[in-house]
Amino acid sequence: MERTLILIKPDSIQRGLIGEITTRFERKGLKLVGMKMMHLNEAILLEHYAHLKDKPFFAGLKKFMRSSPVIAQCWEGVGAVKAVRILCGITNAREADAGSLRGDFAMSPQCNVIHASDSQETAAKEVSRFFKNSELFEYEKTEYMHVYAEDEIQ
Ligand code: UDP
Ligand code: MG
Repeated sequence: MERTLILIKPDSIQRGLIGEITTRFERKGLKLVGMKMMHLNEAILLEHYAHLKDKPFFAGLKKFMRSSPVIAQCWEGVGAVKAVRILCGITNAREADAGSLRGDFAMSPQCNVIHASDSQETAAKEVSRFFKNSELFEYEKTEYMHVYAEDEIQ
């Protein structure tokens, strides 16, 4: 089953949104398979945001991402990567759809409460960037019989 990475960003930590964000994914029916709090260093940010290294906001983005710890979570589910991105909303939070996390909780293209992997390929790289295998858990989620049709999870 698909796994995806999210980071609860420093603005969410400061604004007390950890529970709200985690609850959205839980209620959606996704399964939490890894979670930890960590300070991001320069090296991991350079790797994680390599696609943005030439952007004018890159230095500011790194400073923001180091301004307090983040919480990394790995969520699992059928089509989890896309489902999570939809719950997040578009990058510029001011214009994100109401009902999405960014739409409901943020006003900025930078302080947009959450990071989420944008494709299956990226998700695989990002999950292993933030979690060792021993930090990811396999367990039975009993509610699955009410979350998915039988043939979706075989
Ligand atoms: N970002 C920013 N200014 C911008 C665009 C992006 O500070 O104009 C930050 C923002 O925090 C965003 C992150 O850079 O979430 C990564 O950008 P990306 O384009 O990958 O957006 P995302 O995948 O997070 O929606
Ligand atoms: Mg991105």
